[in-house]
Amino acid sequence: MKTRVYDPRCLDIAAAAAESARLEGSWPLAALGRLAVGTAEPGEVAWSASLGRRARTGAEAQPCMHLEARTDVALECQRCLQPVGVSLEVDRDFVFVADEETAAALDADCEDDVLALSHRFDLQELVEDELLLELPLVPRHEHCPTPLAANVLADTEPPAPHPFAALAALKRTPRRG
Ligand SMILES: [Zn+2]
Repeated sequence: MKTRVYDPRCLDIAAAAAESARLEGSWPLAALGRLAVGTAEPGEVAWSASLGRRARTGAEAQPCMHLEARTDVALECQRCLQPVGVSLEVDRDFVFVADEETAAALDADCEDDVLALSHRFDLQELVEDELLLELPLVPRHEHCPTPLAANVLADTEPPAPHPFAALAALKRTPRRG
């Protein structure tokens, strides 16, 4: 049986899990609005999702999903303020339950993330959420490309004459007389 083609923006989780569907692809980084903020990078987000059903003791099998995604974003180094390339990677497992309340109740004592089942699940939104969680709090180069002092000089206007230089010029005026 040929598996049907699933729309990652409008995914029927239960149906895809029943068929052990595997989806993969890539989206332009610009399509993930919250992640693309402040970057002019024409990057891509590569992703894959494997769905299935997992037995759970004392309950019926639950739809589950293994999600992987990776991309590179350009952030501002908090030390030298120059762009720093950061690789973001997501590698997570999710289980799906009937509704939001069950998901909230289960999430606390479940090692996997718990989501509510949906017939119109937006995988792109989930990928975006998960990548946002991977953003470093303080992005910075391991070794900044330019020494800080050189960088500061490059960013400022040509130095104005130092006031002491003007004073020195005054002092050089001959006062003998
Ligand atoms: Zn830096």
